[in-house]
Amino acid sequence: MGETFRVSVRELVAFRYFPPDIAPMGSVEDMLAGTAAHQARENALAAEFEIEKPIRAQVMRGEHQVTVFGRMDAFCAGDIPTVHELKLCFTPPEAPLPEHLAQARLYGALLALGEPKEIIRVQVAYVNAQGIPQRVFTEEAPRDALLLALEDMLAAWFAVALPERLRERTRDESIKNAPFPFAGYRAGQRELAVQTYTAITRKRRLFASLPTGTGKSAAVLYPALKALPAGKTRKIIYLTARTTARQSPLNALEMMRAQGMRIRVSTLLAKEKMCPTPVRCHPDDCPRAKGHFLRQPDALHELFAMDVAWTEERIAEAADRHMLCPFELALTLCDYADVTLMDMNYAFDPFAQVARLFKRRKDFTLLIDEAHHLLDRVRESLSGSLDTRALREYRAAVGKAIGRKHAYYKQLTLLYQALRALQAQDDSPARQEPDAQTACENSGEPHADGAASHAEHQREATLTVSENEIAWREAALWAAQAGQPEPDADGRISQRDTLLHAPPPALAQAAQTAWEATFTLLEGRAVSGELRALSWQFIRRISPFIFAAKHYDARYAALLSIRGAERVLELMCLSPAEWIASVTKGLRGTVFFSATLAPLEAMRQLLGGTQEDACFALASPFPPENLAVVRRRVQTRYAFRQESAARVAQSIQEAVAARAGKYIAYFPSYAYLALVLRHLDESSLPALLVQESEMTEEARTRFLEAFTQDDSPKLGLCVLGGLFSEGVDLPGEQLIGVMIVGVGLPTPSFRLRVLKAYYGARFGDGFLYAWMIPAMHKVAQAGGRVIRTERDKGLILLLDDRYYDARYARLLPEHWQLTDEHMGAAVRALYGGEDT
Ligand code: SF4
Repeated sequence: MGETFRVSVRELVAFRYFPPDIAPMGSVEDMLAGTAAHQARENALAAEFEIEKPIRAQVMRGEHQVTVFGRMDAFCAGDIPTVHELKLCFTPPEAPLPEHLAQARLYGALLALGEPKEIIRVQVAYVNAQGIPQRVFTEEAPRDALLLALEDMLAAWFAVALPERLRERTRDESIKNAPFPFAGYRAGQRELAVQTYTAITRKRRLFASLPTGTGKSAAVLYPALKALPAGKTRKIIYLTARTTARQSPLNALEMMRAQGMRIRVSTLLAKEKMCPTPVRCHPDDCPRAKGHFLRQPDALHELFAMDVAWTEERIAEAADRHMLCPFELALTLCDYADVTLMDMNYAFDPFAQVARLFKRRKDFTLLIDEAHHLLDRVRESLSGSLDTRALREYRAAVGKAIGRKHAYYKQLTLLYQALRALQAQDDSPARQEPDAQTACENSGEPHADGAASHAEHQREATLTVSENEIAWREAALWAAQAGQPEPDADGRISQRDTLLHAPPPALAQAAQTAWEATFTLLEGRAVSGELRALSWQFIRRISPFIFAAKHYDARYAALLSIRGAERVLELMCLSPAEWIASVTKGLRGTVFFSATLAPLEAMRQLLGGTQEDACFALASPFPPENLAVVRRRVQTRYAFRQESAARVAQSIQEAVAARAGKYIAYFPSYAYLALVLRHLDESSLPALLVQESEMTEEARTRFLEAFTQDDSPKLGLCVLGGLFSEGVDLPGEQLIGVMIVGVGLPTPSFRLRVLKAYYGARFGDGFLYAWMIPAMHKVAQAGGRVIRTERDKGLILLLDDRYYDARYARLLPEHWQLTDEHMGAAVRALYGGEDT
């Protein structure tokens, strides 16, 4: 029986017509200008044409059936049906580009297959960023010629697609028969595997909180791979927040391959890390960029023939052999791999998104490891800012290079002036009581009673959306005012953080115009290499701002920071949930998992999930009696740090003395770490290792090797939320205890106050969502370093009186059984009669 295939018109065209060289920054152009120009032009055509009209047709190739599908930009029926293809272009070409004409002709061919018309009119229109046609090319194509063009492109594509399909059949057979890669399931692994498979078959999201040591990589990868032969998914993308976190899934995949799974695995590393010759990605500057796509097929054939994972090392070697850009080669391999491991940015950052995977298809599965990082990562990528200082410097460089009379310089001046003219809005609500909770949590005052504020939050949670928006903006405005410096003797406020209702339209327009003018400038041949590089930097900086301005709504805040004459305007995304939801909607399952995804329902909300998406929490697979968690009352709030440093030092010494071994103490800041260090009696301590704010790769390795390679007792002093508090695997005697100083709350900032106000209006308890949950994730991650295997035993010492507060305590991992104050007894209970 024949196979069935589906291929889009775009894929067919891209298969045949590709540029020989790597060209820079296509995605930004696509995203911002292309979409806007399309919309503008389509609106203009809407009276006569059908817009975005889907089309499909079936074609037989021998016994195999191919469905070709696509969407015409505009279509007009009539005696001669007309296909209209729109392309954004800053300088229109003299003749239609072959790939554009081919695309329009393919739509024409699909029309011809469905209608007995002898002639189809095919138009390619080049439009500017406002959607105004700059040049239109029209041809009246005979039916036979169109069908010949379709056959020609299909034949070339099919010559590769059919062998690929046969490989998939072999792969599927190998997966069907493959056992779970370990001798047996650990506690909870089978349940997680079942939940993952269910999420894939139902095309839903799953939010899973899994203690460290569950073997989560294998437990999500195995069912996802099993879904391939069942036709439930086409591909698996495994996302992590850090490159080092890929080792565990790579190991699991290697085991599965060793047990007979014929799967292709690839990794995608950041361009900066893969690039061997960091210059501009342009054929004029990088010899690898020139002719890359002409040389790439040979490298692909070579890699296809290797029965190994396409790791960055192997990709780099192949790229060297064929003089290719390794990053571009790795991107192409994503298309051919069954499983690709990559950073979460490649799925969610609109400017880094791997377009060929995430913008065009939905038939793959996302496995998101370390999902607790996703919220902040997506928030940052959806936010953008403009800064007078940076703008002034760029404008000065432009003036020097092309003169101040140049139109481009004047555009930048208009933007600069619009930004510089921003003032605080003085229609803020009257000043109310200060933001007591946030202030006291960090200054040391007792905070407001939880029960009273909860009732109030419940009432707020019943507000309508628009009322909510008003509520949070007002709350944020007075929170901002509460932190403002007093006016000087002349009544002027020279430093101020404030909230604007929205980015001023004139400023947003000036930014858009400057952005377009930068592209026009770059198209000119007279631009020097240095100015060219600066201009690309400018585009990279301004693009997120324009993106945020275009998406600005109640889920954004416009934060204006005034420092004397300088202005920084940040359009901050408050809720990335909707973006995450849109990226993951309709996929063949998305699994968000982490050791710290609690509280699960709250994290589901924050990460764009709905009631229909499952939540799944696993208990720790390790004996609870192997972990002692002691909390001790210490005031670690900022105002009390001088007084509490000695008690913190004494508690650390006591813990280390209770049993000889390797420990790490985590501090809320480098300053507090240094303060406590002065109080430590080093003569009674094991060798000290201190984390520094800037550490080279070698220094980091040395730090960890002191724990992994040397058996003598150690005490590491580190910062909570830093390099060594997450993703560090120190099993057995490599680490037998951690001390966590403070509750991990972030340093107060205007951004956080605004976020708190927003979450307060939306969910009822802004402090919980904006401050406490992320803080306790850091605490749980640091504590999670202690028990890594079923044989590990260890101590977690929590130094802060807030661990006695039920609101904090309930956010700690469930399997942490808290003991109060007395460390000696806890350690004795832990080790029983063992020699301490
Ligand atoms: S090798 Fe480096 S400079 Fe050249 S195209 Fe690739 S990433 Fe850009």
